[in-house]
Amino acid sequence: MSIQSVNPFNGEIIKTYEPHSSELIEQKILRAHESFLSWKDESFEVRARHMKKAAEVLRNRKRDLAELIALEMGKPVKAGESEIEKCALVCEYYAENAKKFLTPEEIKTDAAKSYVTFNPLGVILAIMPWNFPFWQTFRFLAPGLMAGNCGVLKHASNVPGCALAIEDVLIEAGFPDHVFQTLLAGSDAIERIIENPLIKAVTLTGSTEAGKHVAAKAGSLIKKTVLELGGSDPYLVLEDADIELAAAVCAESRLINSGQSCIAAKRFIVVEKVAEDFISRFREKLASCTVGNPLLTDTQLGPLARKDLRDQLHEQVQRSIDQGAECILGGKIEDGPHAFYPPTLLVNVRKGMPAHDEELFGPVAAVIIAMDEEDAIAIANDTSFGLGSAVFTTDIQRGEHIAANKLNAGCAFVNSLVRSTPELPFGGISESGYGRELGSWGIKEFVNIKTVYIS
Ligand code: NDP
Repeated sequence: MSIQSVNPFNGEIIKTYEPHSSELIEQKILRAHESFLSWKDESFEVRARHMKKAAEVLRNRKRDLAELIALEMGKPVKAGESEIEKCALVCEYYAENAKKFLTPEEIKTDAAKSYVTFNPLGVILAIMPWNFPFWQTFRFLAPGLMAGNCGVLKHASNVPGCALAIEDVLIEAGFPDHVFQTLLAGSDAIERIIENPLIKAVTLTGSTEAGKHVAAKAGSLIKKTVLELGGSDPYLVLEDADIELAAAVCAESRLINSGQSCIAAKRFIVVEKVAEDFISRFREKLASCTVGNPLLTDTQLGPLARKDLRDQLHEQVQRSIDQGAECILGGKIEDGPHAFYPPTLLVNVRKGMPAHDEELFGPVAAVIIAMDEEDAIAIANDTSFGLGSAVFTTDIQRGEHIAANKLNAGCAFVNSLVRSTPELPFGGISESGYGRELGSWGIKEFVNIKTVYIS
């Protein structure tokens, strides 16, 4: 089946691509392996030079790449430029720090000498989603290549132009041939790719369903996986919170990437005493964002990435309303070939409703009322996910205690929206996945942590 990029702003087909044949995919993996045999022995200095050049190429092409993202998946250009800038930063971060993170560590034992080395594994398969088509990929490729691995990318089928542009950036940056290549393939080709003995490990960012399939296949072949999956991040608003700040940050987080982010706030758990005040300010902020053409610089909210995803979101909203949720903003689709969904606010959300139990991947906020702090924490943790979380309170010690000890998630923020940054580990627990990206932790996921013992 051909791979098509479709503009979600107007439904027009941008381009149709022929997928790579299985023979071509095998050739590309073989070339990646051959490239690995020399790339693994390159010095950190040489790898860093290429990685810094990649940062430069990204910055030089920022506007063009942001427009490509806008056309293929609807992200407003200003946000697209920030995404590209963040990719440049992660390239520089690992160019500067990889050597330090992977320097052999000497450990005192009864041996004359014993230490640990961090050797690259080989060719890693990256299965990536469309929501941050550059960032999700660079988050893997910057540490992956700096560690001495090679990569093949199977990107989401709706962003083939971005997938090819990423390979192009690395070529322009002067990386040796085949160190990083894009495979144009649908998800039906994945099992066979994982079976290829030259593929040593797999990283996937995407839905929990896709993660389960890939992990099962890779597990059956004893190949390591890192999974960064969905989330239903709870934001707790306690009775002593700065309500204006909480409402502003909650709205900003819910609308990140038109609501299509694994770490966007999704459940807003508000203590009863301040619920009315919070809801009215939150509603106002959600309603005031500028919705429009993603190619215009002042647009804050573009269309969703695909019509089918928009329809699936609307169906989750409808089912929540049928079960008793009240929609006090948005919730209606305007006719047309576009994939827009308006900022939507659901209140009276309770356990059992899709808005409570499932991931809502779009600009739909679900407010759940809690009696007090203890109840809010219990509601926050009553989820199959565990990616991000945040708590709002003017008592910093109280907030820190809840963040550090009470919330079951891969990260917990106080009085701030959850975001990733190159220095800090990123990843989840439970159905949000396992393994960590970024920081010194991320670069160690795809290396052989090898013990060397000299008697
Ligand atoms: P998917 O999880 O289906 O897609 C992510 C990547 O996985 C794509 O490259 C996709 O390829 C691939 N993939 C999908 N199914 C399989 C499979 N069985 N085996 C191997 N690879 C697979 O996301 P969707 O685009 O369908 O979005 C559905 C939902 O997933 C969203 O509504 C959201 O809830 C969640 N999601 C979460 C993301 C996150 O950042 N955590 C990112 C994107 C989605 P292909 O495109 O060719 O199918």
